[in-house]
Amino acid sequence: MTDGWSQRAVRVLPAGITHDVRWRSPSGPYFVMGRGALKWDVEGRRYVDYVQGHGSLLLGIAHPAVTAAVLEAVEKGTHLGGNHPAEVQWAELIAELVPCAEKVRFTSSGTEASLLALRLARAATGRELVGKLPGHFHGWHDYGVLGVSPPFEKPVSPGVPRGVLESVLVLPENVVQAVSRVAQGDLAAVILEPSGASWGTVPLERDQIRQIVDVCRHHGTLVIFDEVITGFRVHPGGAQALFGITPDLCLLGKVVAGGMPGAAVAGRADLMSVLELRSGDPAWNRFSHVYHPGTFNANPVSAAAGIACLKEVRDGNPIEQADSVAARLRLELSKALTDVDLPVAVYGLSSWFHVVVGLERPPATALQVKSLPAGPATLADRSLIQRGIDTLRLGGFVGAAHTDEQVEATVEAYRDTFADLATQLGLGG
Ligand code: PMP
Repeated sequence: MTDGWSQRAVRVLPAGITHDVRWRSPSGPYFVMGRGALKWDVEGRRYVDYVQGHGSLLLGIAHPAVTAAVLEAVEKGTHLGGNHPAEVQWAELIAELVPCAEKVRFTSSGTEASLLALRLARAATGRELVGKLPGHFHGWHDYGVLGVSPPFEKPVSPGVPRGVLESVLVLPENVVQAVSRVAQGDLAAVILEPSGASWGTVPLERDQIRQIVDVCRHHGTLVIFDEVITGFRVHPGGAQALFGITPDLCLLGKVVAGGMPGAAVAGRADLMSVLELRSGDPAWNRFSHVYHPGTFNANPVSAAAGIACLKEVRDGNPIEQADSVAARLRLELSKALTDVDLPVAVYGLSSWFHVVVGLERPPATALQVKSLPAGPATLADRSLIQRGIDTLRLGGFVGAAHTDEQVEATVEAYRDTFADLATQLGLGG
């Protein structure tokens, strides 16, 4: 049945997929439903899910409170073509939880939030150049294609105009060098993932973030934290609350909308004020205000899911629960994989984990991790999926619904997978 779906898929979907990260060769399972930490495919096979809606499902798949809120909203109409109370309540919850969030503007995806934040920063500072760090991901839009994979100065995709590429600067990975580049004073903003590159695949120390933020403050450069992953996951107030460093603007996505499409830019009221429209000031409205329509911005269904999710997350309990299961998973996986005749690094923050084949410890640079051969991880992924474990390149997200029994089964599957892998690679075993 899986083969049937993948054969149909390649006829109508480029590469047979709808998201680059979901590409597997041969094709992976076709999923039909999920509950909590589990999901099932078209053949009725069960999987422990560490993708968790690409990190959007902190509460697990089909959480009852979120599902009920969505069903109620759908009944009332998926779009009411105007302002509605839920968008206000949703923004109020964000403002309550996220330190920098004096004002909030909703978008439909993290990519759109990223695009809007860069436009706001450029409009507010009158500068064009934006700095980003190697390996940090900020969505698939044109300004996000540099510094994604080596060589970092080359875009990760064709099709992006030169002018756009010239308006983004990939800063040196070395913080001292990055700081001295920012000190030239020509950047509108520095955007970064406070977890470190690619949801903490390359961890960033709090002190490193501090240094970058401090130099930005001295030179009129805005700081944008991309909290699409970290928001409402590492702390109810995101990484900015966890680290005690408040950016000027932040991007929120994934958990903010409880697993529905939805995201936001949140930040300082004075910066967000460029989005305002003024009655009686056509010149401001035409030439100075930052333009931002969007049919599905804060649509009632996403707003309902977001509100239901943030109300659950607000007291920190689901985060604590997910964090403690993830800590146990990381610990047990490291123990289980020490016996394997392969270098493997197991690490992570909060409720995510990374398993990187080819490294003994977490990488110091994005270049180090992004230049590793893909072969061993691909083989391991294939074996894990056959054993009923679905991950994001061997790592993933633990949600509040994962249990200790699932951790045990997962560790078992990794142990067997890595024993097989060592044999396949001719490394004893
Ligand atoms: N920023 C970060 C840090 C992300 O991880 C992602 C998505 N994985 C995005 C931005 C883009 O979000 P979306 O996929 O909703 O466009």
